[in-house]
Amino acid sequence: MANTDMKRTALVLGAGGFIGGHLVRRLKADGFWVRGADLKDNEFSESAADEFLHGDLRDPHFTKFCLDRPFDEVYQLAADMGGAGYIFTGEHDADIMHNSATINLNILAEAQRARVKRIFYSSSACIYPAYNQTDPDNPNCAEASAYPAAPDSEYGWEKLFSERLYKAYGRNYGMTCRIARYHNIFGPEGTWRGGKEKAPAAICRKVAEARPGGFIEIWGDGAQTRSFLYIDECIEGTLRLARSNYEEPVNIGSSEMISIGALARLVIAISGKDLGIKFVPGPQGVRGRNSDNTLVRSALGWAPSRPLEEGLRKTYAWIEAEVEGRRTDLPERVNAVPGRLAAVAGQLA
Ligand code: NAD
Repeated sequence: MANTDMKRTALVLGAGGFIGGHLVRRLKADGFWVRGADLKDNEFSESAADEFLHGDLRDPHFTKFCLDRPFDEVYQLAADMGGAGYIFTGEHDADIMHNSATINLNILAEAQRARVKRIFYSSSACIYPAYNQTDPDNPNCAEASAYPAAPDSEYGWEKLFSERLYKAYGRNYGMTCRIARYHNIFGPEGTWRGGKEKAPAAICRKVAEARPGGFIEIWGDGAQTRSFLYIDECIEGTLRLARSNYEEPVNIGSSEMISIGALARLVIAISGKDLGIKFVPGPQGVRGRNSDNTLVRSALGWAPSRPLEEGLRKTYAWIEAEVEGRRTDLPERVNAVPGRLAAVAGQLA
């Protein structure tokens, strides 16, 4: 076991995921000793964690193993989640609810046993009522509008249940729980293919893969609106909220709302390619959603402020490089893969 005496300690649950990987890197840069835990490794880079436990947080024994001490800070990001292609089809509802609720029930029981003082939980804008998100130009996602509850997905209902679970542990056991409602986080090292990717990554991939003069397909009519927060500002907001005195759930999102059609046009412009857009039927979720940042500004004295285009340029460059398979900054084990594949192809030929 590493010597953690002199350092503040943090536990990141879901450390193998997109936000978890970036959070671990930031906590390390800030001087923490970090334990990460996840079912899987980070897909695109080595974890920066001092210690990485592989296991299933649905298993109470593994959860207990992770929470064997009262860490200074615990961040709970593990969830069964995905983009619209995963959450809104209905095919995964039972798994999403069962898996994520079990993870949160286990974590809180073990955190209480370990006398954890402060725990951060990642909720979602998907908890907001569908009835407030029917007008793409005027969605209402102020924190106080969460009730009467009517999320449009079982993913959102599970998040709402778990928000209440964290608040109950805070009330009954004196645990300091901080809850963020993330709104569409994007950036390098986020899933960009396979069905769990979100709109910015999916559009960047489609544009990067398209031949100049061709077109890309967009789900819906393109008029549905969203806002997208770049990963660096998500991490900044997460740390500020986790360490704050504010006790209620807070939006961590961008308030720069954009239609999906305009998002596609922006990515096409960034790529410099001559491409058309074809709108096709597909899952789209609510008609409009935007982060209301009134509360975060007053609660934390801070709110995200960077323009969408800035993060989109970095993300497009990263996905384009992934698509073209011309990344040079990967660890050796990943760069070795094409060589191995070439060898296999050689054997088959
Ligand atoms: P992600 O899917 O990349 O990361 C989640 C991680 O949890 C994955 O690495 C996964 O392997 C892990 N996990 C799932 N089930 C597990 C289990 N049983 N045991 C151990 N690990 C398990 O997702 P992300 O984008 O990094 O999101 C992190 C958190 O933020 C999630 O709770 C998500 O619901 C929430 N959130 C994210 C967004 C977003 O836009 N990315 C928006 C709203 C809320």
